[in-house]
Amino acid sequence: MTKLAIHGGEKVRSRPFPAYNTIGEEEEEAALRVLRSGKLSTYLGTWHDDFYGGTEVQALEREWESAFKVKHAISVNSATSGLYAAVGALGIEAGDEIIVSPYTMSASATAALIYGAIPIFADIEEEFYCLDIKDVEAKITPKTKAIIIVDIFGGVHDVEAFALLAKKHNLALIEDSAQAPGVKYKDNFIGTLCDIGIYSLNYHKHIHAGEGGMIVTNDDVLAQKLRLIRNHAEAVLGAKGYETREELHNMVGYNYRMTELEAAITREQLKKLPQLMQARQNNVTYLNEKLKQIPCLKMPRIRENSEHAFYIHPLQFDADIAQVHRNLFIDAVKKELPRTLLREESEVLLSYGYVKPLYLLPIYQERIAFGEYPFNLSDVDYTKVKCPVVEEMHFHTLITHEFMRPGMLKEDMDDVVAAFVKVWEHIDDLRD
Ligand SMILES: *Cc1c(COP(=O)(O)O)cnc(C)c1O
Repeated sequence: MTKLAIHGGEKVRSRPFPAYNTIGEEEEEAALRVLRSGKLSTYLGTWHDDFYGGTEVQALEREWESAFKVKHAISVNSATSGLYAAVGALGIEAGDEIIVSPYTMSASATAALIYGAIPIFADIEEEFYCLDIKDVEAKITPKTKAIIIVDIFGGVHDVEAFALLAKKHNLALIEDSAQAPGVKYKDNFIGTLCDIGIYSLNYHKHIHAGEGGMIVTNDDVLAQKLRLIRNHAEAVLGAKGYETREELHNMVGYNYRMTELEAAITREQLKKLPQLMQARQNNVTYLNEKLKQIPCLKMPRIRENSEHAFYIHPLQFDADIAQVHRNLFIDAVKKELPRTLLREESEVLLSYGYVKPLYLLPIYQERIAFGEYPFNLSDVDYTKVKCPVVEEMHFHTLITHEFMRPGMLKEDMDDVVAAFVKVWEHIDDLRD
């Protein structure tokens, strides 16, 4: 009888999984082209042609606009910067409320705090992990100004319902599509479906330039404000003749500028996006087909009329069937598997849950951001926030992994499946 690795048996596999590396000769050439030019960035923070960036930055923006069929693409140095600029461009002010998912990267919510606004956390959908529209609607108050929707794991939010809700309550919609570049809802790309959308180009994402982000919008006025915030707005407002409150509000600029080097690399990565996406989708199809035979696991559903970018492959665990807790099951599967090369060198890319629900972070629990500000403008008590679905998913049900990334071969995924199957077949051994 074989023994589980967690009980001292042999692992299903010890040889590391292949590296996740999407950078090739094309990116190398692009980077060299910029280095040889000596112009690593040509931005000027004064009113000048170069206020909008250098040739690579501007070429990337035009190419992104055409690839995503959107009027304006604005490059920035991270998706975090993009989220911050979006909140600023929309005119959010101190004391306003922004409804946001608690199950996302922390910057989706801090974007509110930067402008003195209060993040209000709503629950998520059990099947798709995006904001639950019913709970969002229940949390709208006269102070609510915007909703930050996250296309989490690469799945699409409830597009049409949120568009209607925003219209009904006159709210702005920001779409954090950091995890979902290049997939569609009906005929439109995710990220282009709201007032402002944001993508990430950090090392972990579908395509990357080390660091970087892209903002998209179809609104000319918002686009101009985003470009101003990106590059020291206050320094050029006079030269542009801006002087009314409406024109000056939130036009305190930052330096969110992308370098020519990152732009040149991203231009090459953008060309590879369709094939990188297809590889993730094919790998997920392959894994779903095999893993669904394990009775305590449930494969993800994809929302109607939507594609899925599979930044993460989310599974759900049924403890009633397994008769052990999810965490024990996952601990056992992890022990059967090797680390992955290059990225997260020492880690098995499998975990229980995703990030801790954001309202449980100390800054919210203790209501300390910039000292007491901005929480002193609100009586929200995050120790009383209850989002039952997010807590159930995080603490008991959801399993996330990244074994579907490009570079994983069928034989690699077969080992992943073998580890799950082995633990399922020995599930009795985990019970005592
Ligand atoms: C990665 C990520 C971000 C932040 O991206 P950066 O480019 O690292 O700032 C924001 N939101 C979500 C959902 C993300 O996954």
